[in-house]
Amino acid sequence: MKLKNYFHVFVTALVTVLVTYLFTNANTHTLLFQNFVIDNSIAEVPNNPKFVLPIKCKLDQDCFILLYSDRDPSPKAVDFGCGRQTYDGHKGTDFAISDEKIMIKGVAVEAVAPGKVLRMRDGIPDRRVKNQADRDAVKNIECGNGMVIDHGNGWETQYCHLRNGSIVVKPGTVVKAGTQLGMVGTSGLASFPHLHLSVRYQGEIVDPFVGANAKSGCNTARNSIWQQPLNYKPTGVIRSGFATIAPTMDDLWSGKFYETVLPENSTALIFWVQIYGVLAGDKEHYQLFAPNGEQVIDNRKEIESANKTWMGYVGKRNNYQSLPKGKWRGEYHLTRNNKVLVSLREEVQLN
Ligand SMILES: [Zn+2]
Repeated sequence: MKLKNYFHVFVTALVTVLVTYLFTNANTHTLLFQNFVIDNSIAEVPNNPKFVLPIKCKLDQDCFILLYSDRDPSPKAVDFGCGRQTYDGHKGTDFAISDEKIMIKGVAVEAVAPGKVLRMRDGIPDRRVKNQADRDAVKNIECGNGMVIDHGNGWETQYCHLRNGSIVVKPGTVVKAGTQLGMVGTSGLASFPHLHLSVRYQGEIVDPFVGANAKSGCNTARNSIWQQPLNYKPTGVIRSGFATIAPTMDDLWSGKFYETVLPENSTALIFWVQIYGVLAGDKEHYQLFAPNGEQVIDNRKEIESANKTWMGYVGKRNNYQSLPKGKWRGEYHLTRNNKVLVSLREEVQLN
């Protein structure tokens, strides 16, 4: 659905729901109507489902919600928490994993609720989209490998970008909540390894953090369809570590720089962080400590513009092997309005 038409569809859906109530429960329709008018609360959807997470990982630790549904029908974009972790027209929730190394190990995609597989596609290669040519190559197969599940009562979920060859269900397969469907991948229009989950009720996109028949925008009543309470976390760590060369975002998504031991003749020692959801004015503090505990870097920076994903680093050259052997430590803090949002430390052995 085009979000431009959101209001029209919203009204249509609301009318449908109200009419359904009028015919099924004459005693409560007045109350429902009054509630809606007075409180702007969301009309209850019959058989409102409850969903489990669609990915098998520890949220905010091994995986994280990088992008939410766009709730702004205009060319602007806003997520349900009134933040920027979405883009114009994004019709789902992106559950990201840190990199392709983890993706190859395998992170399971699971059904959010009982249902039956309606359709599926597999065989699309995993390839992170980096430029227009990559984008053109996945035209009309943007979802990549994935499936649609019918949960009954008008509810459907769609799972996108699964790993090539990983899908273990077919049309007609009956699933329970938590049944494995496949693995997280980068097939279709994906620029980082993640699962895109779309939720539909009566054919219309639903933001699972807000519920069906909600108003557009972010200051709306919420009727979350997640079974467990999920925090809105628009800023967090993807990964951090050490490297011997300046990293690129591409290096990080591909899973480089997991080393915890580096050779003493390395050309440099770089302490890096990969963060999601930074805003202009956020303050970063990088520190590097030598094996003897001496602080050799104390670097404060202010982020100039908002970024959905962010990478930063500090480092020391190792000309003439001037860096002593032993355990080096990096510390990083990200602060917004005097509140620490990210605090992490990493160690590396220089041998
Ligand atoms: Zn997405």
